Amino acid sequence: MRCIFCSKERPPSLEHVVPLAIGGSLTTDRVCEPCNSELGSRVDLALTDYLPIRVRRGELGLAGNSRKPPGRFELLTGDVELVGEAGGRLRVTYDEATNKLDLHRLYQATDAITPDGQKIRQIVVDARDKEKVTVIINRERKRHGMPPLSDEELAIEVSKLSVNTLVNPTVRMNICVSYAYLRHAMFKIAYELAFLWLGESYLDDPLAAALRTAICKPEVGSLDSFHGFVGPAADCEAFSPFWKPHQSHHLAYSQEKAGNVVIAVRIFDLYAAVVLVSTDAARYFDGSNAHPTELRFVAMDAVSGNKMETTFAEEVHRIVTTWQATRTFPSPVPDLL
Ligand SMILES: [Zn+2]
Repeated sequence: MRCIFCSKERPPSLEHVVPLAIGGSLTTDRVCEPCNSELGSRVDLALTDYLPIRVRRGELGLAGNSRKPPGRFELLTGDVELVGEAGGRLRVTYDEATNKLDLHRLYQATDAITPDGQKIRQIVVDARDKEKVTVIINRERKRHGMPPLSDEELAIEVSKLSVNTLVNPTVRMNICVSYAYLRHAMFKIAYELAFLWLGESYLDDPLAAALRTAICKPEVGSLDSFHGFVGPAADCEAFSPFWKPHQSHHLAYSQEKAGNVVIAVRIFDLYAAVVLVSTDAARYFDGSNAHPTELRFVAMDAVSGNKMETTFAEEVHRIVTTWQATRTFPSPVPDLL
């Protein structure tokens, strides 16, 4: 098998055109294992872990190859910083049983001065960790080269504990959003669709060769000079108004425009791309071919795994007949619901 990325003769592997982690159900066996693995961890992961998409995976319960989908409240959990005079850190966890977030104060020891001028070591723990205070005191003493306290002395220290209740604390958390390789991920989907839809001869298209080289390069900017829109679905006009946004559908279609072939891809209602995949449309659509390549359309439901593959002409027919009957555009792909 000739791999569509490295062009080497190697055994095939199962490649999901739209990553499995986001419910992609369209596959090809024309990608070798090394390319599948390398592009999967660098390029596909950039898309499936892109924050808005990761959150959607959690909402839709898409586990992909992993045991569990991202947690629904993953964004709100983790260690956060307490803002204000008190300072300190909290660990936020989500309790599935109660459907509530739990805030747990992390143990903190600081130097302080009492009102009468005495230098002390102040220990703050979550009220639920009260029984751990004696261990913490002796650990702090050891760290500062002091002998451990006896049980009696510890009891005296514990009796000095005061409870401070924080109502609705303000917390600060860091959220990381990475855009690196998102362009690669969307171009990769368009390139694979171009191969599936335009056929084997697409591999010899000069733009195909340039695209696969750039997609495989580890440089973040390797696709910057290639024509195409990649960005939020709301900013992409290629799907409006005919295909309304849908939270669990992926759509893609091919188009011929002024001698070029472009492929439009929409991932959920979140991210989209319109990629120029060939500047030589006559290779595929010159009309002289006994079996001319058709323009294609595909829709996938990420949750059910159902997909609809058809020609672009048939999809336009479906939209037009729905419009004529109801004066509304079809709600994206009802057959998949
Ligand atoms: Zn390969």
